[in-house]
Amino acid sequence: MARSISYITGSQLLSLRRQPNIAIIDVRDDERGYDGHIAGSLHYASGSFSENISNLIQQVKGKDTLVFHCALSQVRGPTCARRFANYLEDVKEEAGIKNIMVLERGFNGWEASGRPVCRCSDVPCKGEVA
Ligand SMILES: [Zn+2]
Repeated sequence: MARSISYITGSQLLSLRRQPNIAIIDVRDDERGYDGHIAGSLHYASGSFSENISNLIQQVKGKDTLVFHCALSQVRGPTCARRFANYLEDVKEEAGIKNIMVLERGFNGWEASGRPVCRCSDVPCKGEVA
């Protein structure tokens, strides 16, 4: 069965992102370095995404919902989400992932709506430490 990819809005993600079952995957390329990022998001640049899919699967073990985004979530975000879904099908690996989603309007929409942006340079981002 082909996996479907659904969209999630920024406000939905804002309320869900602290759930332990969610991973946010930023597939922007160099922009992440100077534009900031959503706290706790993982970085898998679109330019090398395919080579790193198996690492990504390892890194999201225990998560069941992955939210992909790029700057606008027009091209790179949905493309990487689709590649990831196809990969899971090809390897017949379920990996416990139930939902593959794309953040509507991407990082730029997130930031434009005044949602919190992390500017740390930690890899991986540890998220907001209270
Ligand atoms: Zn950070």
